[in-house]
Amino acid sequence: MRVRGATVVRFEYELRVDGGTVDGTHEGEPVAVLWGHARELPAGLEWSLGGRAQGPFGVSVPSERAHGPHEPEKIYQASRRDFPPGVTVEVGEELYVEDESGAPVGARIVAVDGHQVTVDANPRLAGKTLVYSGVIHSIREATPGEIRHGHAHGEGRVDH
Ligand code: ZN
Repeated sequence: MRVRGATVVRFEYELRVDGGTVDGTHEGEPVAVLWGHARELPAGLEWSLGGRAQGPFGVSVPSERAHGPHEPEKIYQASRRDFPPGVTVEVGEELYVEDESGAPVGARIVAVDGHQVTVDANPRLAGKTLVYSGVIHSIREATPGEIRHGHAHGEGRVDH
């Protein structure tokens, strides 16, 4: 059996970016998802599993199929004085900025040089190739209840 619509796939995975692990399941604790409905998975992973059989897998997802390109126009220069009191102005600090429509967008401080602060509002993994590896433990037909609910039931389900 292969992973396709109306199947529940139980698997472990690890996501590496630039050689470092950034996400994944705990060893021996696979997740189970209804394929095609697994919005909780990181970008490109569900698509990568389509058509695969039980066993180990490895795939690289280019940024175009994940978080998109890293856009220089989403990097802003600010002054330390622009930050409200209570915000720690240091590299790695997460904050929100407003996009053109005024909606909040997650961003982070990437450089501090004296009073000059550089803020990057690109998605953290923009421009990155996502390298997935893992093991598909099992693939089975989804039950009518699972299809109705749009998620997997039973072992490996996180919250229901
Ligand atoms: Zn349910």
